[in-house]
Amino acid sequence: MEKPTEHFWQIRLNDLKKELETNNFEVFLAEDGAAAKKIVMENIIPAIQPKSISWGGSLTFFATGLYEALTNRADMEILDTQDKTISPEQAYERRRQSLLVDLFIAGTNAVTEAGQLVNLDMVGNRIGGLTFGPKNVVVLVGRNKIVCDLKEAIFRIKNYAAPTNAIRLDKKTPCTKTAYCEECSSPDRICNTWTITEKSFPKGRVRVVLINESLGL
Ligand code: SF4
Repeated sequence: MEKPTEHFWQIRLNDLKKELETNNFEVFLAEDGAAAKKIVMENIIPAIQPKSISWGGSLTFFATGLYEALTNRADMEILDTQDKTISPEQAYERRRQSLLVDLFIAGTNAVTEAGQLVNLDMVGNRIGGLTFGPKNVVVLVGRNKIVCDLKEAIFRIKNYAAPTNAIRLDKKTPCTKTAYCEECSSPDRICNTWTITEKSFPKGRVRVVLINESLGL
């Protein structure tokens, strides 16, 4: 067979879509980050017609180009939690306000083959918005986030996603030196609260865009 890798990922992503739909998520498949952006801009946003929108600090969100596309929108209130021009106090307050928007966009640390979203946050605004508050949530998921089960999800997050994010954010934590989780007690510790989103409640509140590309950490 030609293009075995493409065939492999088509099967894996289609299977995961079915599992997520069984768990009451609405699911979209995107061939790459640009296609994911198109789905959000041309399908999801027109369907929801949000008056306010915000997001977590997701590398996948930035990689799709959605950040540039949405920060320029004048037809809705934009709560940019990643605005580098505001003070840390203003950013914290904006994260609190972002829990009441019509549409919240985030990434995920892992998704299991059974269709569970697994996340570990430092501040908690991402998992807060994912869990309750915003009327609608979009989760952007690169194919590199797919894991077999909860055990592998936790392993991936503690031994890859968290250390790489700590390095990215210049945190003063031991994992930035060793590249392993050292279960630190550092004030800079980014691993504070876990969530496992087993199902979307209400049905369809959380929309998942599965992207056939490696994106994010
Ligand atoms: S608990 Fe500490 S050492 Fe472990 S990954 Fe998180 S920040 Fe790094």
